[in-house]
Amino acid sequence: MNLHEMDLRHLIHNEVRFRDLARKGTTIITRAEGSTIYDTEGRAYLDAQAGMVLVNIGYGRKELGAVAAAQMGRLMYYHTYFQYANEPAVRLAAKLASLAPAGLGKVFFTLGGAESVETAVKIARLYQRARGRAEGHKIICLDLGYHGNSLGALSATAFAAHRAYYDPLVPGFVHIPSPDTFEGPYRADDPGAGARYAALLEERILAEGPETVAAFLAEPILGVGGIIIPPDDYLRHVRQICDRYGVLLILDEVMTGFGRTGTLWACEQFGVVPDLLCTAKGLTSGYLPLGAVLVGDHVIEAIAEADLPFEHGFTYAGHPVSCAVAMKNIEIIEQERLAERAARMGERLRAGLVARDNPYIAEVRGRGLMVAAELVRDRETRERFPAGDQPFRFAVEAGALREGVITGIAPYRDTLMITPPLVITEEEVDRLVDVYDRVIRQEGDRRRG
Ligand code: PMP
Repeated sequence: MNLHEMDLRHLIHNEVRFRDLARKGTTIITRAEGSTIYDTEGRAYLDAQAGMVLVNIGYGRKELGAVAAAQMGRLMYYHTYFQYANEPAVRLAAKLASLAPAGLGKVFFTLGGAESVETAVKIARLYQRARGRAEGHKIICLDLGYHGNSLGALSATAFAAHRAYYDPLVPGFVHIPSPDTFEGPYRADDPGAGARYAALLEERILAEGPETVAAFLAEPILGVGGIIIPPDDYLRHVRQICDRYGVLLILDEVMTGFGRTGTLWACEQFGVVPDLLCTAKGLTSGYLPLGAVLVGDHVIEAIAEADLPFEHGFTYAGHPVSCAVAMKNIEIIEQERLAERAARMGERLRAGLVARDNPYIAEVRGRGLMVAAELVRDRETRERFPAGDQPFRFAVEAGALREGVITGIAPYRDTLMITPPLVITEEEVDRLVDVYDRVIRQEGDRRRG
């Protein structure tokens, strides 16, 4: 049996239709360097998706392997339950507290994004109970938000396609419209859009009853939903509304963190400090699994004050090898100034795409190396192509793949998502611009006939 047959026979892939996969076959990646990955057939791909949007420092950094091997030799595991800890977990917690927005001085480790989100939700509920709000359990989320596939994180996610067939989900999650100035009710040309979108949160809090709401949970820039950037003042209004009603603000920076958007955290760009911040992905750049929740000191103090037990934890939370690798990864992000680099390369990518004046791109937007292009049939009216047998975005994705470029696409609308490693070179950025412009024109012209 060759590797592809073995794969199809035994490995369950994520988010697939089994019959499609059997028909299309699988791509098995064997090695990688910088922003390029190679498959079993020796084909090279420029990875404009950075794995699952996480390989911030690029592939193939030997230093991280060395750090992992050294830590494995010294202490390969000890947990962080009860009074126990291990040195890399303690040092990384202190490092994260030093990098966190002001006041987020406490750190809980997880294995990834979904666990970080669920942990934040549990801490928010615990906090409300500590304050004597026994009913404060609801979590308000955005309808284009993505927070993970475990049952709790999925309950925070509204995508119908992800949720279908898994009922019943966890109760207590409610969704409001996302601050989407391309397709939503308030558009980019409306100077009041930020306040209007935030008002939808206030209305919902009042409708639910403020005393029943534990937290508002959102990505500062929505990732999977289509790289949706809220108006500049949206999160500041949201922060005020949360404070007005005693609702905690949880920001999910799983995708946006660690330099991706041009600053270490995306929330810095909006001038907002959350009560809890979820991270994962770029925390290790994917070299090992690790996530974390950065928690406001005031939140933990309230729980301690009420003397409520923190009954929560994961066997691998604070794994010393993951924590040691995360520390090295952060050192590289800082020393190589990768956040600034993301800002520069993102500018180049966006300017390059805009300069091509592609008739099928209605908007190019982004912060740092989180860049989106809205694909349409008609730029003026923003009419989309009918989905037909294959939505436009899938054809563009496939066309780029034929040219050796791996690209992310939004699950529900024709939005291209370009999120390469932060170490991508100028030449590679220019190649992306070339490939996307060409492929989008070819496919658009073909569809228009
Ligand atoms: N939150 C956000 C914003 C994400 O982008 C993701 C993953 N794409 C998650 C949570 C879930 O992370 P994980 O797959 O590590 O559970």
